Amino acid sequence: MKLTDLTIAQAKNLLLKKEISATDLTKAYIDNMEKYKILNAYVTETPELALSQAKVADENIALGKARVLEGIPMAIKDLFCTKGVRTTASSKMLENFVPEYESTVSDKLLKAGITMLGKTSLDEFAMGSTNLTSYFGEVKNPYKRNGEDLVPGGSSGGSASAVASGQAMAATGSDTGGSIRQPSSFCGLVGIKPTYGRASRYGIVAFASSLDVPGVIARTVEDNALLLNVISGQDDKDPTTAPRAVPDFTKVLGESIKGLKIGIPTEYKSDKLNPDVQKAWDNMAKNLESLGAEVIEVSLPLTKFSLPVYYIIAPAEASSNLARYDGVKYGYRTEKPFHSLDEMYELTRTEGFGAEVKKRLLIGSTILTEEFYERSYLKALKTRRLICNDFDEVFKKVDVILTPSTTGAAFSKNDSLSPLDVYLNDIYTVGASLAGLPAISVPVGYDKNGLPLGLQVIGRKFDEETIFKFAHHIEAISKFDNTPSKVMGE
Ligand code: GLN
Repeated sequence: MKLTDLTIAQAKNLLLKKEISATDLTKAYIDNMEKYKILNAYVTETPELALSQAKVADENIALGKARVLEGIPMAIKDLFCTKGVRTTASSKMLENFVPEYESTVSDKLLKAGITMLGKTSLDEFAMGSTNLTSYFGEVKNPYKRNGEDLVPGGSSGGSASAVASGQAMAATGSDTGGSIRQPSSFCGLVGIKPTYGRASRYGIVAFASSLDVPGVIARTVEDNALLLNVISGQDDKDPTTAPRAVPDFTKVLGESIKGLKIGIPTEYKSDKLNPDVQKAWDNMAKNLESLGAEVIEVSLPLTKFSLPVYYIIAPAEASSNLARYDGVKYGYRTEKPFHSLDEMYELTRTEGFGAEVKKRLLIGSTILTEEFYERSYLKALKTRRLICNDFDEVFKKVDVILTPSTTGAAFSKNDSLSPLDVYLNDIYTVGASLAGLPAISVPVGYDKNGLPLGLQVIGRKFDEETIFKFAHHIEAISKFDNTPSKVMGE
């Protein structure tokens, strides 16, 4: 088997048995990074760093002191600050920003022994669903539609493209309204957004603080569980992390779902839904039923408001978070002459931000003006509360909610989609984001063009274990083959 076709669980095993070395494993990924540059998954590659970490990993393994992810080659989304390694958020604004500190999530992964291959591309400041808005150019999906290039999804598109093409064994992602689940679905991968507060946001470039959640993208449910074990936990540096014990998420894999209840939200059935997704969704519900789970139709009546609410709250928070990029302390500053501080701000921000970010900042700051605050922002906050209440009600009756991850498969930038159509893509993911619930996307099959489709399992707050249990069965039923060499047609 090719080294870059191994899952984390398989590689861990072979590394410990010394049948493979961390150095050879890391080198194999570096070779693939060279080979598949055309996908543009990475903003910054760090092969020397990865190799020096691999050397340490091999030494630790030889001494019998292997850490839990010793020698596992990973990519880090370029939204996570990495000490001494450029962190751009895919923006010109941070093109030359080298952090002096490490995000908690990447720190935990590094301390667990990963080798860091590089920083993966994203939609600028994580705003988008296509990875077309990166200052460093668009990222391509390893899957094509009759030869045509497709988007990998976003914002964690670089992470998903890298993992699907065998340029990293796994990658971090961040999910504000779907940015882990949607690209995972588009690239045939498993991606989890844990409960808000399960993992620390410290050191992640902020987009919308009440929604941003770090998580992971990998090929299997087991790999997701292994990684979530490492990145979770309360963090003194992020007061919104919860003082909750972190269970071993791998323990529940394989456990029966007999007697557990699955909710299917009536409002998620839509004529916008690709019929192939509908079919996969129906079939999976039946299959899970045959394993002893009970399928119940449930109602989330405010679903139609979740997108508008998201697209008010997220830009409002973004406009406040991104106010820090003013050309004074760090990041880009205009090179043009200026005659006042205001002019310097204006030029810096006009030149430093891309169009999508500017649009959102304009929307966000308008929403927060005295004129609009009450009728838009405040109303959105109240509606968000009601959306949370709807989920609470449903979770009195069921253990998980099963939904599509997206309305269809990956699209092409040449498909005639309006910006609104692209926003609509998030319809199934934003609900769990607004309510802070854990949710996982699992690949379940293909559409008529041979493109991956994913289903989402949403759980109760801090009940990642039950969604993992279901995800593992879904994976076993679907037998989706995301072996990178096969995906890349090698
Ligand atoms: N696609 C959504 C947006 O554009 C979600 C992005 C995200 O989760 N970071 O805002």
